[in-house]
Amino acid sequence: MSRSKVRNMEALEIEKVASEGKCLGKKDGKVVFVPFTAPGDVVDVFLTKSRKSFGEGKVTKFHKYSDLRIEPFCSHFTICGGCKWQHLPYEKQLEFKQAHVLENLNHLGNLDLKEINPIKHSQKQQFYRNKLEFTFTNRRWLTEDELKSDVEFEERGGVGFHIPGRFDAVLDIDKCFLQSDFSNQIRDFIKKYAITNQLSFYNVHEHKGLLRNLVVRNTSDNQQMVIVQFGENEIENIEALMAAIVNQFPFIASLLYIINLKHNETYFDQDIICFHGKDHLIEPFTRWDETKINFKISPKSFFQTNNAQAEVLYAETFRMAKLTGQEVVYDLYTGTGTIANYIANKAKKVIGVEYIEDAIKDAKVNAHLNDISNTVFFAGDMKDVLTNKFFDKNGKPDVIITDPPRAGMHEDVLKVILEANAHRIVYVSCNPSTQARDLKVLCENYTIEEIQPVDMFPHTHHCENIVSLVRK
Ligand code: SAH
Repeated sequence: MSRSKVRNMEALEIEKVASEGKCLGKKDGKVVFVPFTAPGDVVDVFLTKSRKSFGEGKVTKFHKYSDLRIEPFCSHFTICGGCKWQHLPYEKQLEFKQAHVLENLNHLGNLDLKEINPIKHSQKQQFYRNKLEFTFTNRRWLTEDELKSDVEFEERGGVGFHIPGRFDAVLDIDKCFLQSDFSNQIRDFIKKYAITNQLSFYNVHEHKGLLRNLVVRNTSDNQQMVIVQFGENEIENIEALMAAIVNQFPFIASLLYIINLKHNETYFDQDIICFHGKDHLIEPFTRWDETKINFKISPKSFFQTNNAQAEVLYAETFRMAKLTGQEVVYDLYTGTGTIANYIANKAKKVIGVEYIEDAIKDAKVNAHLNDISNTVFFAGDMKDVLTNKFFDKNGKPDVIITDPPRAGMHEDVLKVILEANAHRIVYVSCNPSTQARDLKVLCENYTIEEIQPVDMFPHTHHCENIVSLVRK
């Protein structure tokens, strides 16, 4: 059989949603995962990966469109890596997320499950992010349509998102629906200014070029932070661009820049220069009791990326923790201490643990900023910090809140948590499969009380899930 015959599969019926937002169909004894499809589609695919029992494919032709489909809202759909589910109605997306959480908990965890609460939907389904990062390129990615056209593209400077899996390929973005429209305006302004004034765009292979990266952050009350990262030390050009930005957008609360001459564009180890306004933003976050808590957003600090849904996530976490004000609470994987400080007014004491030292500094600043005196924070790897001795020193936990990264919790951490014997555990997770794995261990001594999925990321397959457990 010729290679092309093996690589092309005809009339594959898409059956259901699988992991990573792809859907799957089965044919010729093979399970094939295909992105940007919907259950009910019938498609020809080109197999980008082909093993004996499974493969991955790209649609080359539609024979039938699923009845579930709606018109995607973004012109970059399928080329850009984001918003992969915009061809599905939001209600359907929620249904798939809810089913995915349940399937993971049932399948991997072999858990005795109570009913699962209906997923909390995101109030905003577009423009919901408070942070986006764009990359400049001197050779923007040409789409298949552009390549097929007769047009010669001489000007290839662009700014946008990386093509999935390609560190060197950047799609120039016309309009992005993820962040408020200011984000589109500033990105467009800088690109046009650079072209008009012949500033160079970064070449990632040669590590040359002035304009390198752009980060836009905002608060729920529309304060804007703009960080421009440069790859050359051309101070006159930099200052002229910065001044032009202030002139065009005088309301920017924090305009910062970085001259990064390293090979990679991460800026956690780089000096940040404040050109205009403050060097941070303040997010006025609404607490469970409707009072405000202010969170300081520094250019390098982490904050949940959907403000409105972070309020829902924390309110649900708080509700499920059932605090009376008398409890010693641990907030594990506390990041910048947001959950710890958020719940502090209904706890005796909160102890936050997190591995990034700068995040712990922010957590302390946030406690101070809000006159919170009953939170303490420690930096270190959870499996080293969290020991019986640590509990003896800082107080035996009544309630443990844990919000680990996608990988879930280390087995040593699970062991120490079980030994600590807290009355209640609230497990917040962005990955239901590792959550299920960890819950199985915790269920030795705990019973699942409530399961609450929360959608933070419309049009993606990602889903947060909160599970509360009570000691048996
Ligand atoms: N609860 C926080 C952040 C949770 S994200 C919030 O809502 O904002 C998970 C956090 O776990 C990250 O801040 C990450 O730095 C931290 N982390 C990851 N691995 C860790 C480890 N081994 N020990 C301690 N913290 C870790």
